[in-house]
Amino acid sequence: MTAIQEKPAFLSARLKGRIRFSADLCEGCRQCESTCPAGAISFLKDEAGLHFMLWHDTCVLCGTCAEHYPAGELQQTGEWNLVH
Ligand code: SF4
Repeated sequence: MTAIQEKPAFLSARLKGRIRFSADLCEGCRQCESTCPAGAISFLKDEAGLHFMLWHDTCVLCGTCAEHYPAGELQQTGEWNLVH
């Protein structure tokens, strides 16, 4: 029996992967909620403050949110593994 060798997956340099949120850059304007065409972004407000939520099972990785926030609040990464 031949052992299966693990090799790194081939990934295109233009791969659109998961969105990364940088809380330290966010001013809490909540505009990204209406920017997302898939409705994947929402905020929860409670006594502890404002919490950013991005639903990876709803996000279609289009990158629209990242394009609207060039300062880096939302960045599109090349990370394709969405298990978290
Ligand atoms: S990449 Fe597209 S679908 Fe995903 S959160 Fe951003 S705007 Fe929404």
